[in-house]
Amino acid sequence: MKAVVTGGAGFIGSHLCDYLVARGHQVTALDDLSTGSEANLTQVAQDPAFELVKGSILDQNLVNEVIEGSDTVFHLAAAVGVHTIVDNPLRSLHTNLHGTENVVEAAVAHGARFMVASTSEVYGKNDTDGLTEDADRILGSALKSRWSYAAAKGLDELVAHIYGEQSGLPCVITRFFNIVGPRQTGRYGMVVPRFVAQALNDEPITVYGEGTQRRCFGSVFDVIPAVVQLMDTPEAYNKAVNLGGHEEVSIKGLADRVLELTGSSSAISYVSYEDAYGKGYEDMQRRMPDTTLANRLIGYTPQRNLNDIITSIVDHTRAEDAAPQAAAV
Ligand code: UDP
Repeated sequence: MKAVVTGGAGFIGSHLCDYLVARGHQVTALDDLSTGSEANLTQVAQDPAFELVKGSILDQNLVNEVIEGSDTVFHLAAAVGVHTIVDNPLRSLHTNLHGTENVVEAAVAHGARFMVASTSEVYGKNDTDGLTEDADRILGSALKSRWSYAAAKGLDELVAHIYGEQSGLPCVITRFFNIVGPRQTGRYGMVVPRFVAQALNDEPITVYGEGTQRRCFGSVFDVIPAVVQLMDTPEAYNKAVNLGGHEEVSIKGLADRVLELTGSSSAISYVSYEDAYGKGYEDMQRRMPDTTLANRLIGYTPQRNLNDIITSIVDHTRAEDAAPQAAAV
C-alpha cells in the first residue's frame, strides 16, 4: 500500500502510521502540526518508508501533490475537541468542510481508495441504547456553534458518500465513538487524558455537570486494525461503520476508576457545563455504539476493556512525565 494519512501526527493518525509502516507499507503523513506533534511520530520518523509533510489540508495544491501516486488515503485531519470547536468555531468549520473536500477531490482525481474519519457526534442528541448506523441524527439549534462539528462531519460523510456513488471511489466512513489511548492530549477537552493527568498531579478531577452522562470508551489499539481491514473490504465501501468500545461508564464512574487505578488522592470537583464550556452547551447524556455492522464486515470485537485502556494511558503519561524533554519536542 502507498498510503497518505492526513492528520498523521495526531493521536489516531500517528498510531495508524505506526501500524502501516510496521506492516511494510509506504506512508506519507500530511499534518499542519496545529494539534498533532512530531513527538507522536518518533517510532516511524527514521524509517525510510515514512515521510512527514508539514502543511494544511486547506492547501489544495499541496493536498494534490501529496496524494498523487498514492493508492489509499486515510483522512483523519480535522479540528477536534470540544474546546477547539467552542473556542474557534469558524476555523473548525472551515478545516472540517473545505479540508475534506480538498482531500476527497484529490483522492478521486488520483484514483486512490478513501477513508474519512467521522464521529459519534453525528448522532447528536439521539441517545438510543446502541446506536446503529442508520439511527436518526438529532442535532441542536443551527445557531449554536457547539453543533458545528457534528454538522461539518455529517456533511463530510455526505461528500464522501456522493463521490463514492458518482465516481466509483472506494470509500469507507468510520464513525469513532470516544476513541482514547496513549498520545491523546487533554488540552482540547478529551476527558480520559484530562482525568489521568489530574490524578497523577494530585489535582482535582473536573467532572462536568453531574457526572451521570455515560460514554463507551474505545481503544485506539482495537480501532486501528479495524480501519485498515475495512479499507480492504469491498463490502464496506460506501458505508458508514461504527467503531468503539462496549463497556459503558458514567463520567463519575470514570473518575472513580481513574482514581483507583492511579492510587491518587485527588478530590472530585463538580464543574457546571456553563463554567466548563460557556453558556448554552448541550451535552449528550448517553452515547453507545452498536458495532454489529463492523462485526459482520470484519469480525470486529473490541479486545480491551476500560481498565486496560486507562492503564495504557497512565503508563504512557508517567513515561512522558519521566522524560520531559522528549515530550516537549
Ligand atoms: N468531561 C468532564 N470533565 C472534563 C472533560 C470532559 O466531565 O474535564 C465530560 C464531558 O462533558 C462529556 C464527557 O466527559 O460528558 C466526554 O467528553 P469528551 O470531550 O472526552 O468527549 P465527547 O463525548 O463530549 O465528545
